Amino acid sequence: MKFDFLIIGQGLAGSLLAFELIQRGFKVFVIDNGLENASQVAAGLINPVTGMRFVKSSDVDVLLPFAKNHYQALERFFKQSFYIKKPMLRLLKNNKEIENARKRLDNPDYATYLSGIVENEKFGMVLEQQQTAYLLIVRLLVALKQFFISRQCYQQASLDYKEIKLSEFVSYQAIKAKQLIFCEGYLARDNPWFSYLPFQLVKGEILTLQHQQVPSSFLLNYGHWMIPLDDFNFRTGATFDRENINTQVTESGRDELLTSLKVIMPELAQAEFIKQQANVRPCTLDKQPFIGLHPRYSQLAIFNGFGAKGSLQIPYYAQQFVDFLSKKQNLSAKVDIQRMETRLPAVRD
Ligand SMILES: Cc1cc2nc3c(=O)[nH]c(=O)nc-3n(C[C@H](O)[C@H](O)[C@H](O)COP(=O)(O)OP(=O)(O)OC[C@H]3O[C@@H](n4cnc5c(N)ncnc54)[C@H](O)[C@@H]3O)c2cc1C
Repeated sequence: MKFDFLIIGQGLAGSLLAFELIQRGFKVFVIDNGLENASQVAAGLINPVTGMRFVKSSDVDVLLPFAKNHYQALERFFKQSFYIKKPMLRLLKNNKEIENARKRLDNPDYATYLSGIVENEKFGMVLEQQQTAYLLIVRLLVALKQFFISRQCYQQASLDYKEIKLSEFVSYQAIKAKQLIFCEGYLARDNPWFSYLPFQLVKGEILTLQHQQVPSSFLLNYGHWMIPLDDFNFRTGATFDRENINTQVTESGRDELLTSLKVIMPELAQAEFIKQQANVRPCTLDKQPFIGLHPRYSQLAIFNGFGAKGSLQIPYYAQQFVDFLSKKQNLSAKVDIQRMETRLPAVRD
């Protein structure tokens, strides 16, 4: 079986990259181990203005319109909705936050993202944000997986690194490809070729709950966030844990999220528990993705490191990487793994 690209990982990164390559006429094969991944656990939140000081995410003016168009094109292709637009209310906890929010409102660069500060009768002073949304990632990944299966280019299996043979091509069992692209999310830490890259993995936990009184017309950000889904279901998250890098749910994670939710909406204290999930964000030392060819083995490539912002960043960089792989455009230096070359271990004789 001969392919242009063998892709390892069917999270959001591997899926959108494989789809883009197929759309451009390349022959692609995807292998994924079928375990629950970060993309399936993620809230898929897209929030252009974040942090204590309400700063625009890096490159959001470029990334957001691109992501929105891309997801809408996928909605037309699969005849399903994936990108759910909803305004966000950001609770302002003290005068310093109100002052910071006012400064941003006075800045014309923020005009498309922030609409005003109002006194909300339930939550007190809030900053109203627009252009916020969440992506139904599980639904999108199911549609993409079915698409790959229908083209006979998907296999559920755990890749065994030892079986990868490098020559002019890459061979893996019966598959021969010109290039292999690793899209393994946090499991890249075990990759013998790319584990030199400085990931800074962060575990996160999320709860899905149900309650008849959950507000449904906005996303709520109060340090943690609340995302209303259908049928009175909602999600709340997420925790940040840099010490325990695993996918186990914990009682402390659950307590943290429930405690902070109940402070803001005590009526949700009786919310019905639906599920708790945990996974690991593939964050990086310099907060930029890891994209590009291995410095020594150009048959091997990586598309990873989208941290806590995969939904916003992956569509744009998938397109940029496919342009690069088809020799139409260079990668931007800030995402190209060439920037990490001094970390590459020396070759032993
Ligand atoms: C709790 C939490 C909340 C988050 N919230 C948000 C959010 O609100 N908004 C947002 O944009 N992002 C969020 N993220 C981040 C988001 O999940 C990531 O940016 C994105 O999903 C990463 O996608 P990925 O494809 O790189 O990795 P993954 O989704 O982890 O996919 C990697 C895939 O590779 C497979 N794989 C790895 N190794 C092998 C192997 N050897 N053989 C076969 N298959 C293999 C894995 O099983 C997996 O399916 C959140 C993450 C977490 C954990």
